[in-house]
Amino acid sequence: MIKAYIRIFLVAALVGICGVGSAQQERSRVLAFYSTNVEADHVAFAKQALTFFAEKAGHDGFDFESTTNWDDLNVERLKRVKVVLWLNDSPHSEPQREAFEAYMNRGGGWLGFHVAAYNDADTHWPWFLEFLGGGVFYGNNWPPLPAILTVDDKASPITKSLPSQFTSPANEWYSWRPSPRANRNIKVLLTLDKSNFPLGFKDILVDGDIPVVWTNTKFNMIYINMGHGDKIFTDERQDRLFEDALIWLIGNKPSQFLNR
Ligand code: ZN
Repeated sequence: MIKAYIRIFLVAALVGICGVGSAQQERSRVLAFYSTNVEADHVAFAKQALTFFAEKAGHDGFDFESTTNWDDLNVERLKRVKVVLWLNDSPHSEPQREAFEAYMNRGGGWLGFHVAAYNDADTHWPWFLEFLGGGVFYGNNWPPLPAILTVDDKASPITKSLPSQFTSPANEWYSWRPSPRANRNIKVLLTLDKSNFPLGFKDILVDGDIPVVWTNTKFNMIYINMGHGDKIFTDERQDRLFEDALIWLIGNKPSQFLNR
């Protein structure tokens, strides 16, 4: 009789454990990478971003973790991660780069901010350049300034809460050559409006096509150029853009992006 009770208890315990397990599996895991030994304004942004996304995790029902150890960019660690965030840096070693490529090629998600996409003649990572749409860093404004942004695609779930134009808080805006828009795989979502030019004092953006948010349709990715300084999270509409971008990445099926 006692044995029977124990058996019932064990079965109940197992069902309980499995129940908890499946409930946890339903919560998507988001892992943010950042560095603290980089430009102070980029660290300031990353710290605020961590607070922002941790709060959204509770509200939107995903698990949020962060790390400053870029060696966590490995196949094993990324296995259960739905979306990777790069808040203010990019991989430092070949194995980290390779793990990221493998992760994205099997449908992983990526949300990169600001300097995460910085690349120049010394970067020597052709896959990453193609992933970003082919744009090499070309110039920036200085000091950081607000800018009027135009929404390119108002129907996108990422921009659906934005007006067709809005003033984005102070940021160091980057330009790229060639413009990512020239790549047929790139869908531009937001662009620096031409009315901003000339933008800057010490360093000036004078003209040109300057996309600031885009996705490469071959991957489950979004790049967001905002990410310099402590003013980025001062506009609720823009905050919503960041949140909606992450929700969109979490919601996409990895199978949409396989075999690329
Ligand atoms: Zn910057």
